[in-house]
Amino acid sequence: MRYIRKGLDRGKSMQDYQLRQREYLLQISRAMTSKLDLPSVLRLILENAAEMLQGHGGLIALRQDDDNFRVRASYGLPRQILPLFSPLLDDIPHLTGRAHLSRWQIPDLQIKLGIVAAAAGMALRQVVALPLVIEEELIGVIYVFRTSGTAFSVNDRQVLSSFADQAAIAVRNASLYQQVSAEKGRLDAIIEHSADGVMILDCQGRITVFNRALADMTGWRPEDAMGRPCHEVLQLRNRRGEDICRSDCPLRGLSPGADLYVEGDIERAGGAVVSVGITYSPLYDEEDRLINIIANVYDITRFREAEEIKSTFISVISHELKTPVSIIKGYADTLRREDAQWDEETVREGLAIIEEESDRLDRLISDLLDASRAQAGSLKLEMGDDAHIPKLTQRVVEGFRLQTDIHQFELDFPPDFPPVIADQERLRQVLSNLVNNAIKYSPEGGKIRLGGYADRDKVTVYVADEGIGIPLDEQSRLFQRFYRLDSGLRRRTQGMGLGLYLCRAIVEAHGGRIWVESAPGQGSTFYFTLPRQ
Ligand code: ADP
Repeated sequence: MRYIRKGLDRGKSMQDYQLRQREYLLQISRAMTSKLDLPSVLRLILENAAEMLQGHGGLIALRQDDDNFRVRASYGLPRQILPLFSPLLDDIPHLTGRAHLSRWQIPDLQIKLGIVAAAAGMALRQVVALPLVIEEELIGVIYVFRTSGTAFSVNDRQVLSSFADQAAIAVRNASLYQQVSAEKGRLDAIIEHSADGVMILDCQGRITVFNRALADMTGWRPEDAMGRPCHEVLQLRNRRGEDICRSDCPLRGLSPGADLYVEGDIERAGGAVVSVGITYSPLYDEEDRLINIIANVYDITRFREAEEIKSTFISVISHELKTPVSIIKGYADTLRREDAQWDEETVREGLAIIEEESDRLDRLISDLLDASRAQAGSLKLEMGDDAHIPKLTQRVVEGFRLQTDIHQFELDFPPDFPPVIADQERLRQVLSNLVNNAIKYSPEGGKIRLGGYADRDKVTVYVADEGIGIPLDEQSRLFQRFYRLDSGLRRRTQGMGLGLYLCRAIVEAHGGRIWVESAPGQGSTFYFTLPRQ
């Protein structure tokens, strides 16, 4: 009687066990397929497989791109001994069709476990290994170990095998998700680190991506720009200052398969204007519905400036060079007329003007050549070791004294002003340009003071006038090539806008610095420094 009862009990507990296994299987399948993070999917699979089979440890090895297997998750085994389990991953047979699956087994697995367990110092006695298969492709192997001697039964294998089918799907999904996430991360990084500005708009023109380069260009923080309509962030203006986006939104001109290029100016928070070129590339779905617009934004301020310089250059050159040439030609034509008799005085005056204008032409051409050398970085200096700036200034001033009687010159150098190592001829050019400007831009006359002082490591020289002065926002641009301030005087004074550019090039080639302090109507003081060594 007792015996029968015991047999019944054992039958019942076996049923219970199998029922529990099935319930487990259902729960786990749900949990597995709802997770997409590969490490936690693997951990979940392994913990449940071990628990279901009353195992004490386990491993999941996944197939790598190079077809080798690598342990990607473990259960109940100390991390540091995992390398010892590598023999279990050797000789894993590949699958050749579904039929093969039932006969799939790793050769000598039980023997290998004995070796591994001895090396790891663990009492692992039994092992079961089942393949993770998707569409007849082996993607990994799941191992469960027992420390007790009870071998894994056929039922255990069956349970693990149906579980393995579900697990393989979860692993494949999580792996794909991982790949897609990595790909997205890579694309995000490419966009974020692109040297050009990039923004991605949704179909309504709202900003969904705004990269770092664009943030630098526009002064907008990405978090502030995100979600706003793009015309609020990039208020594109045309050359006349009209808001292009408000009057005629460029995005209305988009059509499938065609990019759109627009140029305009945007104003940064501080008021600085940046010229940009934007290429809008629309993305459509299969039904030709607009999904996104990718906008590449290029800073074209420098190109615009270069274009402006080019056109200024042409107009300045044609004006400045043609004037002396036509004066020379006029006088030469007049003097050589055969029907006229010129007295000696008229001839001398005419020749003097021809000589003066030829000198002016010569200076203009030299300035142009110097400017192109400076631009190419090949302005040569011939350094001597005892340039005496007070004496040099004295000589320059003597030359100019004769040209004006409404300006008074004052020199103020301390008697111990030290000699410097410099190219004297080039220094003379700097001083001449500054004095020439001081005269030109103080048409009412006044004092022109020249002086200097020395520090331990440098000397500073200044030229100060009482002329029309220069507004603060124009002061840094004076030293650019061909830049002439649009003052009332511009048309009345000769000049190519090269004098200060050359002064800066020469001073900087000496290792010094040049700057101006000025205010409109208050005169200007130009300073430059030269290192003493
Ligand atoms: P240019 O005199 O040939 O125009 P420069 O390069 O010497 O060219 O000077 C650039 C511009 O800087 C001038 O056109 C003028 O507007 C301004 N400038 C230079 N020196 C003075 C000065 N001493 N006072 C006022 N404006 C000046």
